[in-house]
Amino acid sequence: MSAVSIAVGAYLVASLLFILSLAGLSRHESARNGVSYGIAGMALALAATVGLLVHDTDETIPLVLLVVAVAVGASIGLWWARSVAMTGMPELIALLHSFVGLAAVLVGWNGYLHDEGLTGSLRQIHSAEVVIGVFIGAVTFTGSIVANLKLSARMKSAPLMLPGKNAINLGALAVFAALTVWFTVSPNLGVLIAVTAVALALGWHLVASIGGGDMPVVVSMLNSYSGWAAAASGFLLDNNLLIVTGALVGSSGAYLSYIMCEAMNRSFISVIAGGFGIEVAASGDTDYGEHHEISAEEVAELLADASSVIITPGYGMAVAQAQYPVAELTSKLRARGVDVRFGIHPVAGRLPGHMNVLLAEAKVPYDVVLEMDEINDDFPRTDVVLVIGANDTVNPAALEEPGSPIAGMPVLHVWEAKDVIVFKRSMAVGYAGVQNPLFFRDNTHMLFGDAKDRVEDIVRQLADIPQQVSR
Ligand code: NDP
Repeated sequence: MSAVSIAVGAYLVASLLFILSLAGLSRHESARNGVSYGIAGMALALAATVGLLVHDTDETIPLVLLVVAVAVGASIGLWWARSVAMTGMPELIALLHSFVGLAAVLVGWNGYLHDEGLTGSLRQIHSAEVVIGVFIGAVTFTGSIVANLKLSARMKSAPLMLPGKNAINLGALAVFAALTVWFTVSPNLGVLIAVTAVALALGWHLVASIGGGDMPVVVSMLNSYSGWAAAASGFLLDNNLLIVTGALVGSSGAYLSYIMCEAMNRSFISVIAGGFGIEVAASGDTDYGEHHEISAEEVAELLADASSVIITPGYGMAVAQAQYPVAELTSKLRARGVDVRFGIHPVAGRLPGHMNVLLAEAKVPYDVVLEMDEINDDFPRTDVVLVIGANDTVNPAALEEPGSPIAGMPVLHVWEAKDVIVFKRSMAVGYAGVQNPLFFRDNTHMLFGDAKDRVEDIVRQLADIPQQVSR
């Protein structure tokens, strides 16, 4: 059997492993297996690619370059993955998307500079692949850089409001279409530079003009774009595995964007067009009145008297690493006969599934962790809700204030419970930059401080309260 056939077979097996990986990642119970399949697929793909290169070249320089590149990349990746905090994952993922975009741009440019004497329609197809690959790659590159800056708070999460922003986006797409036709008919350096510049500017503008509350959709959309950029590179490099893997990432990212759009009540089409939900200004000057504070001791008493409790965690739980004391509190309350469940908003935290991962890490049983839609009708029958570091995802302004930047986004109806305890350090706004009227309601009590410290205080206080004999 030839080396090429072995490599093609290995690519096929790697593609199947990637599909199994995605399937595994869709459920808690099989997620660990999913990750193992992904690692195995990637190891096989790398081995086959290195094997092909070794087989195809007699020169040592490309091999040395490959070994150095893999060694440097793997060392940086290993160090980064080990040292990054869970809360830093979204910005790291955004940065990784930008690398895929940049790679697609470089592969496209390389394809133009080395077109290997193609002629006729083959040359036109090649040119179209170059220009489309460069465009998707450049949009992904700058869009992901902006996403990284916004997620790491090095750039304001408020939307950039250039006049006629939708016209700018549509105009850029029209210019790209015209330049693509031009480049396909007559490839030349000037047009490729123009396409690259337009795409870089468009990627920057698309993501800069989107507000914090809509960032989850943007991150999954960039994930999808990075997949399509990789697939475009696969066509140029004539690499089937890259095409399949890129298409898998592109389509699964697009599906995730669709789910996110549903969760955020945004239109999928307008997300693809890059102009959604940002025509309104933040309503920061409304006076909602006074808030009421509560102590950990009082919360422990409320919980000891409660028969049903719902915990709605958010980004602050991740920052405080409060999932472990929260899990301990949950088991203590359950041991006292209290019905404790979790309500998870689809965009709580900074990653899809962020809260589920943290709770699984702390060994909270899966069966008490419910999605927003499964639990939202139960709040009126609930004694106490513990809002642990959540803000935008429990903000009633999304339903009650049509002018709010988060208007229309479904939220957890925590305010319908008898008592709501909000754990946070200050009266600061959430990620979307919008004040939360929940904090000023009569049945809401603010428990200020680091969420981990406060939950630990409650666990200690609860131990001193005798358990009721029957409930
Ligand atoms: P938010 O980001 O809206 O709010 C988090 C709250 O946690 C803040 O109000 C903060 O208040 C509090 N907090 C921070 N640190 C601590 C701490 N150590 N102890 C106690 N409280 C703390 O959280 P949500 O999860 O409700 O909403 C997520 C937001 O992120 C949404 O706007 C969503 O659109 C966006 N987003 C989500 C992504 C996803 O995929 N899930 C991706 C990108 C963005 P204070 O500073 O006063 O303590």
